[in-house]
Amino acid sequence: MSAVILDGKALGLRIEAHLAQRVATLKNSGVEPHLAVVLAGDDPASQVYVRNKQRACERCGIKSTRIDLPNDVSQEQLMRVVANLNSDESVHGILVQSPTPNGTDELAITETIDPSKDVDGFHPTNLGRLVMGQTDGLLPCTPAGIIQIIEDANIDLIGKKAVVIGRSRIVGMPLALLLAQKGIDATVTIAHSKTEDIEGICRTADLVVAAIGRAETIQTDWIKPGATVIDVGINRVVDDSRDSGSRLAGDVDPAVSEVAGHMTPVPGGVGPMTISMLMSNTVRAAEILLN
Ligand code: NAP
Repeated sequence: MSAVILDGKALGLRIEAHLAQRVATLKNSGVEPHLAVVLAGDDPASQVYVRNKQRACERCGIKSTRIDLPNDVSQEQLMRVVANLNSDESVHGILVQSPTPNGTDELAITETIDPSKDVDGFHPTNLGRLVMGQTDGLLPCTPAGIIQIIEDANIDLIGKKAVVIGRSRIVGMPLALLLAQKGIDATVTIAHSKTEDIEGICRTADLVVAAIGRAETIQTDWIKPGATVIDVGINRVVDDSRDSGSRLAGDVDPAVSEVAGHMTPVPGGVGPMTISMLMSNTVRAAEILLN
């Protein structure tokens, strides 16, 4: 058996096409959705991520402004930039690219973002709304993208067993909350680095989501035949057979596709959906302000 590949890139482009229509409606009402991206430092991966986000803005018709800050930016300077964006009425979404430079406190910066402009969905107010079962606001992008992938593939999780491997603030924990929400109704287990018999737990699951950041950890014998496997991991691994000397790998061994029923690829699965959900949150933030 070979898994149905869940194409996040194609789904993301479809979602962005719908968003472009909503952007046009907003513009007709005199509102131009506007995302401000703050990039502090010269981390090469962050440069690529920010460029991809700006390209997505172009596809959707969203205005984007990039604010570059030096590697030695202070916490106070970063906070001041965020405060200015909070009070700028033309800005609907604020994103401070992670990781912020050494010596700055990323969590504290997140908390200074106006929750109504927090398009990453990481502010305690937005995470708190999620805990309360309110999913109509600004949701964290990667978990929201995963839910969209599952819904688009018509995978029914009502009463089914889901295992989320990884309990981070940005992926694992909010995703577990979303999967357990009324309407999705999965029975969720959160696994992490201290979990005993993680393979055995995964083998009972109808859905396994891997968000651990360790290349190709999840193996075929961890997966129940026909289960859905979502691979969040983005890992750069050495590959001497390539000119670049490296390749991107997920957290799941690609051979898992021989036993899974559905599976996301890396690249082209969860990654593009994360960006599409950022676009979606920016449009939503502009719409909420208008209404
Ligand atoms: P993180 O903050 O480092 O969290 C990793 C989680 O995995 C932790 O909860 C950790 O457990 C757990 N873990 C680590 N090794 C484990 C193991 N061997 N067995 C079981 N659990 C283990 O990472 P993150 O930010 O959630 O990101 C996870 C991965 O997703 C990374 O590769 C990242 O690049 C990728 N990512 C992709 C996207 C996307 O758009 N595709 C978005 C965000 C992140 P403890 O809590 O016990 O330490």
